[in-house]
Amino acid sequence: MSIVENIQYIENQVVSKGVTLIAVSKTKPVEMLMEAYNAGFKRFGENYVQELVEKYESMPKDIEWHFIGHLQSNKVKYIAPFVSLIHSVDSLKLLQEINKQAAKNSRMIDCLLQIYIAEEDTKSGMTEEECLAILQPETLKSLPNIRIVGLMGMTTLTDDETQIKKEFRKLKDFSKKLRTQNSELRILSMGMSGDYEIAIEEGSTMIRVGSKIFGGRIYQK
Ligand SMILES: *Cc1c(COP(=O)(O)O)cnc(C)c1O
Repeated sequence: MSIVENIQYIENQVVSKGVTLIAVSKTKPVEMLMEAYNAGFKRFGENYVQELVEKYESMPKDIEWHFIGHLQSNKVKYIAPFVSLIHSVDSLKLLQEINKQAAKNSRMIDCLLQIYIAEEDTKSGMTEEECLAILQPETLKSLPNIRIVGLMGMTTLTDDETQIKKEFRKLKDFSKKLRTQNSELRILSMGMSGDYEIAIEEGSTMIRVGSKIFGGRIYQK
């Protein structure tokens, strides 16, 4: 199937459930993204700052760019002028830098807090306790140019569906609990090519799908 057919296939599965599809285009050439764009699809996810900036500069300006990878504080300034949503905030220090750069650009930047749910310790993210500390009103007040709009999580790399389900459910339960106190936390970004169907069953509202749209990854950094 073509890129456009893949996107249509997945959107047909998820849109009626209120789930937003982000096409993860990391390592893919601009021509492939443009195929999707020319068919009307405008939400892309990238995880390397330099690659994101290059694509932003060479592509139409009505694209919604999502940053989904590990973000170093010293690189925030490059994406702050245009990024739509940063999914991968894993520390208060990073949020403070995003806030600073958002202010410099006279913007509000939407962010998700990445919560550590996997069993392997290679996946980044923060603990529930760190997340709760950031969501304290005094802390939020010190970040006037940030809007925290939800949570993101990545599961352990495994074929064990029970394990994946358990990890998604843990994040869903935590998100539900937080939402009773803070209604702005409406997004739950979980699910990739291999597990988005399970993620949606477990309450995901935003899925990040790469290889199932663009084909296998050419290389992985
Ligand atoms: C690469 C990546 C994805 C997409 O992975 P696929 O398995 O290719 O769908 C989703 N989220 C993050 C954070 C990624 O780095």
